[in-house]
Amino acid sequence: MKPVDIIVPCYNEEESIEIFYKECTDILRNIKDYNFNYIFINDGSKDNTLKIIKNLSEKTTNVKYISFSRNFGKESAILAGLKESTGDYVILMDVDLQHPPKLILDMMPLIEEGYDSVAAKREARKGEKRYREYFSIKFYKLINKISDVNIPEGATDYRIMSRQMVDCVLALEESQRFTKGIFEWVGFETKWLGYESEERVAGTTKWSGLALLKYALEGIVGFSTAPLRIATIIGLIFSGFSFIYFVITLIKTLVIGIDMPGYASIICFITFLGGIQLIVLGILGEYLSKTYLEVKRRPNYFVKESNIYKEK
Ligand code: UDP
Ligand code: MG
Repeated sequence: MKPVDIIVPCYNEEESIEIFYKECTDILRNIKDYNFNYIFINDGSKDNTLKIIKNLSEKTTNVKYISFSRNFGKESAILAGLKESTGDYVILMDVDLQHPPKLILDMMPLIEEGYDSVAAKREARKGEKRYREYFSIKFYKLINKISDVNIPEGATDYRIMSRQMVDCVLALEESQRFTKGIFEWVGFETKWLGYESEERVAGTTKWSGLALLKYALEGIVGFSTAPLRIATIIGLIFSGFSFIYFVITLIKTLVIGIDMPGYASIICFITFLGGIQLIVLGILGEYLSKTYLEVKRRPNYFVKESNIYKEK
């Protein structure tokens, strides 16, 4: 029996956990050659999530948990789960059943076939707002163009990975973790399976529009330095224009003489350039702040309690 770890980040998910565990267990019963273990990460929930997970771990034999000292975010929860995983394969899954457990039935044979990872991507988006879908598509187009990773549109964190790949993901020690990019960056062969997204079983999404924008920025700044080149490119273009303008003005002055009008165009030009300078400064600031956070070398999370360390 090969051991497989299922990592499940939970943040205020008191209603979903038991439904999730039951549904998974029902489905995974059909796969015989594996021993499935769960690692629930309580990411600083404010409701009864921890109580329910602890309860579940006492009633069952295959549930481990890690509980953070506060909410550190899903990326940190995933990292904690991966660090504590010991199985030959590791599965990452959301607790709200938006990642259909029955897909594991398709994933297992593929990973046995020799893929290093089998990952799920959303094909239809039930219960998702139109504008989100639009920006999502645009985001993946952009990040794939300007970075050296290639993330398919609709890619989710739902995936199974081999031990070897998990160890490589863990070898990246950056604290600003954009996992979707990291999974691509480490290489290996990933098979993508499409699935139809369901609405969550209970609770609400933890992602606001602003949080998604932050996440997208994180991805771009984390995996591409192309935006930093914007200043150079714009600078070159404007220097070119101003040189041509200088030549034209010089010739005009020599031929026709000096005339005064041009106030409005000068103002337009100055404000336009000022705007561009501020944008470029902002971009520099993004990278600087990431560098700042990175050099502080703060831990990604603190564990308040867990039933894992007791066993070790
Ligand atoms: N999650 C987490 N920490 C957070 C936010 C979310 O561990 O700060 C978990 C959440 O409990 C769920 C998964 O990450 O299991 C995905 O969250 P959600 O369903 O809110 O995201 P969506 O499916 O809307 O992208
Ligand atoms: Mg969800």
